[in-house]
Amino acid sequence: MTPMERIMAVANGEIPDRVPFLLTSREFGMKYAGHLMSEAYTNPQVYVDSQLKLLEDFEMDGVWDIWCTPVVDEALGSKMEVPEDDPPWIEQPCVSEPADLAKLKLIDPLKDGRMPYMLDVVRRLKEAVGDDVPVIAWASPPFRTACMIRGNVELYMDLIDNPQFVKDLVEIAFENCTAYGKALVDAGADIISISNPVANFDCISLDNFKEFAHPYSKKMFAEMKDHGAKLIEFHTCGRWDDRYDLCCENVDIIHCDRVDLKDFKRKWADQVVIMGNVKSVHTLLQDTEETVRAETLECLENGAPGGRYILSADCALPRDTPKANVHAMLEVLREHGTY
Ligand SMILES: [Zn+2]
Repeated sequence: MTPMERIMAVANGEIPDRVPFLLTSREFGMKYAGHLMSEAYTNPQVYVDSQLKLLEDFEMDGVWDIWCTPVVDEALGSKMEVPEDDPPWIEQPCVSEPADLAKLKLIDPLKDGRMPYMLDVVRRLKEAVGDDVPVIAWASPPFRTACMIRGNVELYMDLIDNPQFVKDLVEIAFENCTAYGKALVDAGADIISISNPVANFDCISLDNFKEFAHPYSKKMFAEMKDHGAKLIEFHTCGRWDDRYDLCCENVDIIHCDRVDLKDFKRKWADQVVIMGNVKSVHTLLQDTEETVRAETLECLENGAPGGRYILSADCALPRDTPKANVHAMLEVLREHGTY
């Protein structure tokens, strides 16, 4: 099977030849290829080549775009900082008071900010891997972009002080995030990858999630699919225990964090493919090959039976993860991941 056939098989409830393997690997890949993460923002081909190297050396079932989480937030006017060797972040949000909403325009993904660059990377990835390998690209969910362009502490206060302002802000974020997501699909993205760590159980209440975050994400995911995205993958970073039923709506793959895989699969595998969850920091970054092998085997034993499972870490693969630990994961997959 090709990587695309393997991923689509688990998405369609069929049994593939082996368990698919995906690691969110932007910064690990750049270091593995001998580059600083910041080079990805100036030399698109260096980034593309780093992903192709991972694809070949670790038999992964997809390539990832730069996963530039604040790209829409920056295009809307926030100031983005690109550190030398770490992921970017928003240094200065662009909405400091409700009156600033009037200044926010609908972005043009083909022209504004760094979006044309990101779309170029996606185009190059698709051209390099063709139809047999999925290109996975990041799109920000509306509530996350609202938090980034307002500042998340300020927005959490607004939820109490001025809920209508939050709704107006998330609505604008929805229009913009959806426009960029559609442009990613047009550029060749097969799978849209999303994470919303500012909307988990530790950050906002279930009621607030239902009112201000979930409906906009759900609508955005539906529009991505209508526009041609083959699958939506949602990384539930942090704790989501009281809202997994909502997370599974309009989503094809849940990339889970700290959950009991066996129990999680039993509850949700009829609705979504489960992807995870070897511990990225404690195990892959900090522990030995032996521990990686044991934990990978445990994941396969709990996740693989009956299909609907992708082997992965529980979050993004840290930049400084030892290569030997990723190899150890692959070895266990080769030995025990075949159906
Ligand atoms: Zn995470």
